[in-house]
Amino acid sequence: MKNTIITAMAIMLATQISARADQLNVVTDIAPVHSLVAQVMDGVETPSVILEPGASPHHANLRPSKAAAIQSADIVFYIGDALTPWLSAPLAKLNTEIVKVSFLNQSVTTQLANRDFAIFEEEHHEHDDGHDHGVIDPHVWLSPKNAQQWLMVIGDTLSVHDPENASIYSQNVSRAIEGLEKMHTDFSQKIASRKDTKFLAYHDAFQYLEHDFNLTVVGAISSSDASRPSAKRMIALQKHITEQGIDCILSEPQFSEKLIQSVSGGNKIAIAEIDPLGTKHTLGPNLYTAMFADFANEIAKCGVE
Ligand SMILES: [Zn+2]
Repeated sequence: MKNTIITAMAIMLATQISARADQLNVVTDIAPVHSLVAQVMDGVETPSVILEPGASPHHANLRPSKAAAIQSADIVFYIGDALTPWLSAPLAKLNTEIVKVSFLNQSVTTQLANRDFAIFEEEHHEHDDGHDHGVIDPHVWLSPKNAQQWLMVIGDTLSVHDPENASIYSQNVSRAIEGLEKMHTDFSQKIASRKDTKFLAYHDAFQYLEHDFNLTVVGAISSSDASRPSAKRMIALQKHITEQGIDCILSEPQFSEKLIQSVSGGNKIAIAEIDPLGTKHTLGPNLYTAMFADFANEIAKCGVE
């Protein structure tokens, strides 16, 4: 009897160990990317995420526990060096067996150049003025069209490394793409009344959202790397707001409203709070879509009626 129990325990232990070795260990950078990967891995495993909730991807630090998580990963899905420069060195040092998928390096990703200026249209006429237009705006996940492409990249990558579950990944990809298509339709309907609204971005993070949903964003207080605006930039913004007016500021929860007040110069301007990282949502498969539903609600109610 005793021997049977010991044998049974030994078998259980062996099964557990082999299950652990088989487990696909997937790490992601930010919550929206985690959400897309979690949709594809649904029913198989749960990915982990590097960026702490509330931290800015532009200026974060890699915690020791997260550094360890990357070390033991099989696959890392992330946006890329332009978004998270602090991740570049740790990722470059990883064992070559660890698969690294940067969405900024995927040819299927639609990429838009950084707008290194406060008021977009005015500066557009002066393209030869020494601005660097070669740098890509890293906020690529705010295009659901990009996300659709990535779902396929995620599914293919997972299937190569875990062929046993390939059919689950493939079904999950199809379902996730359908979900994004529906979300796109709902979003467009919800913001239909905002076609002529002039938006100003707090930090130039929403170019891809503008692009996918035809929003008119006239400028940004801080540039796409989220650096502090110069005095010159502030003056240009104040001038533009006084002369041409804007209807709504696309703000973000982690930023102070002092700059907004300073830029609006006492004019009361409606504010839509857009959280490009989905911080207040539970990490997981539903976060990406829930985050966009919030954007649509905020944008729909911001500006003149
Ligand atoms: Zn940003």
